This record gives sequence, C-alpha cells and structure tokens, in this order.
Amino acid sequence: MKHPGKIVPFLIVLGLLLAGLQIDEAAAAPRPNPPSGTSEPIRITGIRHQPTSSSSRVVIDLEAQVPFEGHRLSDPPRLYVDLFGVNLSRPLSWKTVSIGDGIIDQARLAENRPGVVRVVLDLAGPGEHRIFSLPDPPRLIIEVKRKDGKAPSDQVGEARTAARRLKIVIDPGHGGKDPGAIGPGRLEEKEVVLDISLRVKRLLDATGRYETLLTRSGDVFIPLEERTAIANSHKADLFVSIHANANTKKTARGISTYRLGMNPDQDAVELAARENKTSRRKLSEVELILKDLVLTSKSNESILLAQTVQSAMVNETRSLNHNGSDLGIREALFYVLVGAEMPAVLTEVSFITNLEEEKLLRKDAYRQALAQGIVQGIEMFLQESKRVTSRAN
Ligand SMILES: [Zn+2]
Repeated sequence: MKHPGKIVPFLIVLGLLLAGLQIDEAAAAPRPNPPSGTSEPIRITGIRHQPTSSSSRVVIDLEAQVPFEGHRLSDPPRLYVDLFGVNLSRPLSWKTVSIGDGIIDQARLAENRPGVVRVVLDLAGPGEHRIFSLPDPPRLIIEVKRKDGKAPSDQVGEARTAARRLKIVIDPGHGGKDPGAIGPGRLEEKEVVLDISLRVKRLLDATGRYETLLTRSGDVFIPLEERTAIANSHKADLFVSIHANANTKKTARGISTYRLGMNPDQDAVELAARENKTSRRKLSEVELILKDLVLTSKSNESILLAQTVQSAMVNETRSLNHNGSDLGIREALFYVLVGAEMPAVLTEVSFITNLEEEKLLRKDAYRQALAQGIVQGIEMFLQESKRVTSRAN
C-alpha cells in the first residue's frame, strides 16, 4: 500500500477501527466460537439506554469487543443476547434498567453460566431489531425499531432530523445497449442490478428519512461519467453503484464492495477493465483526479461506507447463500466513482458467471436480502459517521 506519508497513520487507525466492526442479526448466521477458557474474561462496564430519532437502543459498554449471539422470542415479545468470554463487574452483578419508551420496556442483565452474560430486552411489541458491535470505545448495541416505524416516545431532536433529508443516489450498473455481464443461463447483469436498486429505493423511501434518486429507473444506457455527475449536481450525500461480478473462472463467487483506489489487486484490475469498458475517459485524466482524491476525506468515508455495506450484505444473505463467501472490501479504478464529491462505493452483489449464484440472483428473496443489506449498511454508515463527526467537534 502506497499512500502519502501523513495519510498512512490515519488509514491504519481507520483500518483497525473497521477491522473491529461487526454486525449481527439473530438469524441463522454461524456464530464465532467463544474464546477458550484460558484467556482473561472481558468485563462489562456499563449498560445504558440511548433513544435515536427512529429507534430505541441499549448500549452495553465493554473492555473489549466479544463474540455474541442474539435470539428473538415472541410470547411475550423479547430479545436476548448472549455475550461470550465476559464477566460482569461487581456493581452490575445483576441489573434491571427500566426504559418504558414504548419500544423497550426494560433491559435485564445477568450471568447465564460461567463466562456467559445474557442481556434480555422485554419489548413493548413486535419490531425489527439488529445487534452490532463497535470498537471505539468497545460496545455492543442492540437496536429495536417499532413495527409501525414510529419513533420512541421520549425521543429528542425530531425537528432537527426533519429539517433536511439526506440525499442518496443509487446507481444500477449498465443498461440499454450495455447488458453488463451475462450468466451461463443468460441472466443479464443490467436487469438484476436494476431490480435490486429499485428494491433499495423502496426500502429507503419507506423510512421517510431520505430522498433517494436512481441514475436510471429503466433499461436505458447512461455513460459512466454522467452517473457521478448526476449525484454531484443533486449535491447527494452518498453514492452507491450496484453491479454483479463476473469471472472466467466459473467457481468464482462471493460478495465484494469497492471504493476508488490506486492499489487494486489483479482481480480488481480485470474487473475494473470490464466495468469501465463503455467509458471514453482517458486513464491519464483519471489518474490526475485520483491523486487529488486520495488527499480528501471522502476517501476515508468511502472506506467506512464500503465496510458497512459489505458486512450487512454478507450478513443478510448468509442464510440463502450457504456457500457464499465474503470477499471483503477492495479498491479499484472504477471510472463511475471518479469525481464523486460524496462518499461513493461500488458493490458487486454476487457472481453472475457462477451457476449457483446466477440461480440465486434470479430469486426475489435473494434480491430482497441484498437490498436489505445495502440499506442497512447505508444506515450504519450514517450513524457511525455522525458519531465520529460529533466526537471530533
Ligand atoms: Zn457491472
């Protein structure tokens, strides 16, 4: 990795921060193994309630990140999360926190068996939830949204969030004369990514929190350069380009998310060459823009966005794509991302050239899971970047 001197330490810090970011859902995801008995248990140092504009959160403060496992029970509605390799610090040896905000009634914390602490949330009713851990400071967050999407009753700052809705541009790759990659069963990338993008837009619109724009909503050709120009001219806050991967190796499979960067691996070079095919932009021109870009903070924000989108997509599709693989976040010279004035990423949702993944990409359920992952990743990014910004101020 070659970066100008001042940027390197920051990127390393950010990389460490990102490496520790995990998301989890109570679904059928494989669980990390609890740490072996020889290591010192990690202590839970606190539990607190945190209402946000759209949900109710319980935050468990820890000395370090630990493996966890969440479960949902319906009668009465409650949620429990086991944390492995942990001890309760003495004042917390048994604790109930009453919340009563119309979403979570109370949170209970107790040692379930040696080295395992169970957090139980008694819920006011059905609602979506997610569980994720953040590294700095180490904490586990259990977030619950009410089914009707209403905010908790004791929330603050509603007027402020209503003032300006964030603008998100979703870019379905290819279109019109450019079909993109084509699978062994003749499925076309342009059709799959448009459908996923429309699903992403519906999910984002349903929250009422965003203004969502699509670079194309039908089967039309749009030059790569115009796609970011659309986002820039609308002063968008985020840009997410959606594609399906292809490889001459039929066994290649998995999900990956890219940011613009100058240090691609060999696969990324080939992928970018294919995705850039329709561009008339000269490489020398692109490299000039890139030198600028590495010096801006958008590059670091794009790393965070790539990370949250990638992990949420992998998580959401795990139960449908049993042999799927997490190819992680990568960088490449995608022309469609060049010149974006906002955090911008390109996601390759699966390999259309892989027989099994092509079949999955035909399925509604798989497309929906990918869309949900992208939306969840966007929301996690927004929450995390807001936190970093407010801490820096
Ligand atoms: Zn593509």
